[in-house]
Amino acid sequence: MFLQSLQLRHFRNYQEQYIEFTAPKTILLGNNAQGKSNLLEAVELLATLRSHRMAKDKELVQDREPISQIKAVLKREAGIHDLTLTLRRNGRRTVNLNGENLRKQTDFLGVINAVEFSSLDLDLVRGSPEVRRHWLDTLLVQLEPVYAYILQQYHQVLRQRNAFLKHHVETLNLASRPSELSIWDAQLATTGTRVIRRRDRAIQRLAPIAAKWHASISGSTEVLQVKYAPNVPLEEIQPEQVPDKTQEKAQEKVQQAFFDKIQQRAIAELHQGTTLVGPHRDEVELTINQTPARQYGSQGQQRTLVLALKLAELQLIEEVVGEPPLLLLDDVLAELDPSRQNQLLDAIQDRFQTLITTTHLGSFDSQWLNSSQILSVKDGE
Ligand code: ATP
Ligand code: MG
Repeated sequence: MFLQSLQLRHFRNYQEQYIEFTAPKTILLGNNAQGKSNLLEAVELLATLRSHRMAKDKELVQDREPISQIKAVLKREAGIHDLTLTLRRNGRRTVNLNGENLRKQTDFLGVINAVEFSSLDLDLVRGSPEVRRHWLDTLLVQLEPVYAYILQQYHQVLRQRNAFLKHHVETLNLASRPSELSIWDAQLATTGTRVIRRRDRAIQRLAPIAAKWHASISGSTEVLQVKYAPNVPLEEIQPEQVPDKTQEKAQEKVQQAFFDKIQQRAIAELHQGTTLVGPHRDEVELTINQTPARQYGSQGQQRTLVLALKLAELQLIEEVVGEPPLLLLDDVLAELDPSRQNQLLDAIQDRFQTLITTTHLGSFDSQWLNSSQILSVKDGE
């Protein structure tokens, strides 16, 4: 897929900006705080409806403006797409695809696919489980856009169940479990199981690709393992290779395990007034030779791991979607040593349309510079 143009209106520090992309590689060159990352963030929002920086819409809309608009024209094998995302200070969003306002935001997902890689991604190794869940969810939204809806349903049930638990604990302060809670238990188990199984499936596909990249980049025999670790026990099955009946059975089994776990944690939940079981507390385990990656190795080794994950993401999206996604590289070259820089630049070649930010051109060889479009970014222009 190829992003042909981007138009920003009142987005972050951009007042009004139109950009045409004319080469497979675009270098966004500029000093700090000029708007380079903001531009990548705009593309990321079109692809995932999420921001890497976990920004709220009122932060995305330009200061003192009520509304912001991101428009893009994208060429895919199936044809040209025109996308517009409208953001408002109050958080209400509208999405328009090829001139038509979409009722469901999920229909907007999957039109543009993009993988973002920035220095923030080091948090994938060092940060809390929430960072890894957010990363996995963002990937899943692109692999199967319906996942956005499934996740939303789960969070809605979770919010309601938490509100109920909190209210119960605060007002009645009983040690007994209110019977109404079982209605929420059932919904939590059903929607939560859908989330867990999809996350597990995605990680099962990603893990071998990431391990392969990791071995190749590190040039060693160290083995990277990526594993989804739900707090509800999960049946070990290969989802792609089993008939529908087995799928249903697997869903039921996980659901039952979910119920059992809720029962086990019932007293603790009443004490804490919040839901303790479910995919909102799951983890994606990253280990190297069986040692948790966080405790393992230098910053450089952790960067290698993140680079392997990102390259695996690119490859997996390409396999599933059938077209290479866009690659958004935010200031990462400066963080990699020359050999890892080369690994990354070699892997990209001209296969993925790449937007790359930098404060200076020193990291690029002449071949890159000659085949790139270079845009200088200054004060939101
Ligand atoms: P660096 O090289 O430091 O990463 P950058 O060019 O990537 O810099 P950005 O993060 O894209 O910088 O832009 C930061 C600028 O955008 C800051 O000056 C910030 O004040 C401004 N900015 C962010 N949000 C808004 C907003 N809602 N309205 C106006 N300006 C904003
Ligand atoms: Mg930046």
